Amino acid sequence: MTQQPDDLPPLEVLPRDISAYAKGNTGIPYVHRFESGRPGPHVLVNALTHGNEICGMVAATHLLDTGVRPEIGTLTVSFAHVEAYNAFDAKAPHENRQLVHNLNRVWSDEWLNGPEDSPELRRARELRPVVAAADHILDIHSTSQPVDPFWVYPAFARNAEVALAIGRPSIHLVMPKGLGSGTPLIQHGRHGEEAGTAGAALVAECGQHFLQSAADLATQVALDFVAHFGLIRRDAASRPKPAPQRRFELMHTRMVKTPEFRFVRPLVGFETFAKDELIAIDGDEEVRALCDECTVLMPTRLPIVGREGVYLARPI
Ligand SMILES: [Zn+2]
Repeated sequence: MTQQPDDLPPLEVLPRDISAYAKGNTGIPYVHRFESGRPGPHVLVNALTHGNEICGMVAATHLLDTGVRPEIGTLTVSFAHVEAYNAFDAKAPHENRQLVHNLNRVWSDEWLNGPEDSPELRRARELRPVVAAADHILDIHSTSQPVDPFWVYPAFARNAEVALAIGRPSIHLVMPKGLGSGTPLIQHGRHGEEAGTAGAALVAECGQHFLQSAADLATQVALDFVAHFGLIRRDAASRPKPAPQRRFELMHTRMVKTPEFRFVRPLVGFETFAKDELIAIDGDEEVRALCDECTVLMPTRLPIVGREGVYLARPI
């Protein structure tokens, strides 16, 4: 069965001109910092690590436009990959996720200190002190397929504690061994280490890129995250009703190795397979379920050699 990568979703939310936010107040374009003058944690809310994940833009502009200011500690709001964001084309709305490199895989010393150059590496090097300075990081993302929103984070107790306390999204993808395909922003430096002084660093996948519901959730999660650390107060009515939490553990990130990569049937995410059941074919290799209830997450919409094909997880 062939995939249908061109079944485009409705574009309920479109990018808007964000050049008014370029100046910021830190000397780094598109980075805004507010210091309360009182002791407290430094919280970073980051949007647009991927250029077409516009729910983060909606959340970040909400924080800035409504004048959210910390009562304690420091709040930083950043728009990461504005160059990719500005390359949006409604006729090809998945194309501007990245320009050259995946900005969410280059946060290792190896890449940041390395010899290569690209728009993503230039921006990561520029944002490096912003990410390094934060105690707690929320990195806002969205998915190509319209699936339930979920958290993604390294399997450190400090991350789980915060994600479970916030409780929305109610699904958690926990990474015991990282992504296996590079270093994401939330694992930069001390945030990638189990021991030490780092606080929580979480990705929120808020739903399908262009849905209003993703933009709404991103805004609520950003406010929840900032409130969780006491920087702002939220009234009880804005708190989500406690929902049962579902957790998955990432077992394997399957990269696309050949142009022939295809799933055995169309997948959007959260489908489950029995142990050894065939999930995808990649040239002459088979991708099979690693365990019973093997759950696929973020199956690629359009396989590209060298990029992630699918995440294989198991319920925990
Ligand atoms: Zn993303």
